[in-house]
Amino acid sequence: MAIRFNKPFLVGKELENLRHSLEGLHLSGDGPFSEKCHKWLERHYGCTALLTHSCTAALEMAAILANIGPGDEVIMPSYTFVSTANAFVLRGARPVFVDIRPDTLNIDERLLEQALSARTKAIAAVHYAGIGCDMESILAFAAQRGLTVIEDAAQAYLCTYKGRPLGRLGATGALSFHETKNVVSGEGGALLINDETLVERAHIIREKGTNRTQFLRREVAKYEWLDIGSSYLPSDLIAAVLLAQLEEAEAIIAKRRLAWQHYHEALAPLENEGLLRRPTVPADCQHNGHIYYIILRDVEITQNLLRDLRNQGIGATTHYIPLHSAPAGLRYGRVAGSMEITDHVGTCLVRLPLHAAISKEEINRVAEAVTAQLSDKRSKRS
Ligand SMILES: *Cc1c(COP(=O)(O)O)cnc(C)c1O
Repeated sequence: MAIRFNKPFLVGKELENLRHSLEGLHLSGDGPFSEKCHKWLERHYGCTALLTHSCTAALEMAAILANIGPGDEVIMPSYTFVSTANAFVLRGARPVFVDIRPDTLNIDERLLEQALSARTKAIAAVHYAGIGCDMESILAFAAQRGLTVIEDAAQAYLCTYKGRPLGRLGATGALSFHETKNVVSGEGGALLINDETLVERAHIIREKGTNRTQFLRREVAKYEWLDIGSSYLPSDLIAAVLLAQLEEAEAIIAKRRLAWQHYHEALAPLENEGLLRRPTVPADCQHNGHIYYIILRDVEITQNLLRDLRNQGIGATTHYIPLHSAPAGLRYGRVAGSMEITDHVGTCLVRLPLHAAISKEEINRVAEAVTAQLSDKRSKRS
């Protein structure tokens, strides 16, 4: 039996919510289910949360809210999804790529200084695998220089850093509910707004640059064009599915964390032998079991392992092609300093199958396959 890399986990109540939504005939954005999701997120995060049709959309809103414009520079890791960079490039800004930390694979806060220029406007902090960046250092650095911090918390739903939720530490934070994430609505996302002075403008940007939200609250008689914006809100049908998932998020994440922990224990001997590196979770970070990855020694070992696992029907896969080396990254971005760790991780990181319904037996099979392949390699060498 094949072991899939990912399988969206349905909690059971999605269809019932969808039926209610269809019967209620409020299908466009900000209907009753969106309102419930907003309340749910606001209760958890303690700040304004606005549903978007994706994390990509939430990042685009964050870039507009930060007044990013032509010629501005935004410091970010290269080892991230394209949307982290696109959101700013769409505003005419230049991504400035810095290397990641070898332990968490998050932006290396010690490299911020050398990436600065007179045009630096913001820092995009990406919490890879739901493991928090060193936000204390990043926030202090940004505060000293008047920079905005935007969190790409796409993978970090319900994760914490020093007891505080990720996505809640920068001016804004972007969440994803894409099918490949932990809590899903097919496509979906949300923008967390921590800087309260941004809330009214966020509503306007999300509603095509109009004060339609105020109009719906009966605060104005008509709504009109006030600012730039787009249609960033999801259909209420999406919110209907999302609400069912949000209500079960703790249980979904508990299952994923259990699977993560099982991999972590099963692969410990290989790390001890120096055959691979397992994820590092700093003591002040609580993760959500979003990704279980291993880092191999070189490209050849990695390619052989991937081929071997795929031949056995195990859906293992690498992750990002670093943005600084991709065609659009070369065109729109610049690199600050060495990209040594990013380049290594770009070719030697392997993500193993992980989802809420994966069994202990399946994990054992994957771990055994990894062990057999890497041990085989070692015996051939010696
Ligand atoms: C998934 C992801 C995104 C994009 O999320 P969408 O909801 O698909 O737009 C952005 N950044 C990171 C780090 C991601 O993992």
